[in-house]
Amino acid sequence: MNNNPTETNKVVTRFAPSPTGFMHIGGVRTALFAYLHARKHNGTFILRIEDTDKSREVEGSIEHIQESLRWLGLEWDYGPDSAETPFGSCIQSKRLDTYLHYAHQLIEKGLAYPDPYTPEEVEVFRNQAAAEKRPFLFRDHRPTTTETWDGTKPLRLKVPEIKRYTWNDVVRGELSAGEEMLDDIILIKSDGYPTYNFAHIIDDHEMGVTHIMRADEFIASTPKFLSIYDALGFKRPEFVTLPPILRDDKTKKLGKRDGAKDILEYKAEGYLREAMVNFLALTGWNPGTEQELFTKEDLIATFDIAKIQRAGALLNEDKLLWMNKQYLNNLSQEDKLVYVTNFLPEETRSLPQFSTDRLTRSITTITERISTGKEIRDVAEAGEYDFLFNSPSYDTSILKWKNDESIQAVLPRLAEAHKILLEADFSSSETIKEALWPLAETLGKGELLWPLRVALSGQERSPDPFTLAYILGPDETLARIKTACDKIKG
Ligand code: GLU
Repeated sequence: MNNNPTETNKVVTRFAPSPTGFMHIGGVRTALFAYLHARKHNGTFILRIEDTDKSREVEGSIEHIQESLRWLGLEWDYGPDSAETPFGSCIQSKRLDTYLHYAHQLIEKGLAYPDPYTPEEVEVFRNQAAAEKRPFLFRDHRPTTTETWDGTKPLRLKVPEIKRYTWNDVVRGELSAGEEMLDDIILIKSDGYPTYNFAHIIDDHEMGVTHIMRADEFIASTPKFLSIYDALGFKRPEFVTLPPILRDDKTKKLGKRDGAKDILEYKAEGYLREAMVNFLALTGWNPGTEQELFTKEDLIATFDIAKIQRAGALLNEDKLLWMNKQYLNNLSQEDKLVYVTNFLPEETRSLPQFSTDRLTRSITTITERISTGKEIRDVAEAGEYDFLFNSPSYDTSILKWKNDESIQAVLPRLAEAHKILLEADFSSSETIKEALWPLAETLGKGELLWPLRVALSGQERSPDPFTLAYILGPDETLARIKTACDKIKG
């Protein structure tokens, strides 16, 4: 098989983040769509690090980006960790020679020239344009004579043709922009690094990228990009503009500044990768059916860039919670145990009666009521699971059923239950229920089950007594009933 994406006509997509901080949902969604499209067509997915603006770089971002994608299972074919690729490094700062190579090509063709002005001089031009109420265009000040570029000055594009550009966007359809959008933009900065505008086009070409998926903020610059494609003689890739992700109030795009969360925070809160991937796939893509739950494999099979929506996609965190709950419910008992254990705080795990066996029997009770691990932690920290792993302390008065005249009435009922439970089969809450049910029917359900539940949990609100007895096991169940009886006797 030929693995070189530049030599075959297979689909190649890339996710090209700048290492400027943590990844949020928007970035990950772009990565996911690019990943799904590549996988669907047995293509190649590249992770490229765009680190040519050194002033904006945040340390640790590259590791964070990789960790985030790995968490979600979006494995790349080539990335910053690849020892060998058919096209060199996937980190732009390690590809400077490539950009210089193309820069010199453009100089030779007369399509690039050194910017002779100082920043102050450019500022004067800019102010002049503002005073005359016309847009500032550098190309109006193109120098008549060109010196040789020695790398100390910015290198600018000489726009090959001033014209209206029209292009197709897979999502937005035909787009066009007039010549006022074209300018002699900087290709290489005076610090030797290329601009995003120049570098990404060269990389996409060298890496054989067929489909560019990115946010809508790049639409306005596309005519400029197209003039660079033309200057370099490169074929245009497919442009696939993803819809913005909107916050709950639908008015604003989600961004780091308005509380967009680090994607790994979702992981820390107990969102399962399957839920996250499923949720993000449906944020801006609509399969056109009623189906809501998709495994990654389903998504790869179903994903279709023709069904990416144009309109902004609402970030519906309630939906994400719901999905997480569905995926949590579907975990095996073993996986649920690992999941719950990870989120139980040390205080709960060091309660005197804590054991893995008892926790295993508590799993359904614990997971039934929550949607994320963070909720487990919050509930545990509030002490609400303590009765599962510690003898409860409670006021005897709550043992009394609402129809009872005095607490003493409860005593013979608990004694009867104790007797039955001595012989009962504790292998499930159902077998316990079967053992106690005839007594409940004789004595009255509330009359028996209320005090029994309080004896076992020490609480007026708790799971039913059969479930509790099953979780606690025979010894502890009998001991707690006995304690309740002793308390009533005073
Ligand atoms: N490096 C750009 C960013 O992080 C990527 C844009 C693109 O995908 O071309 O915004």
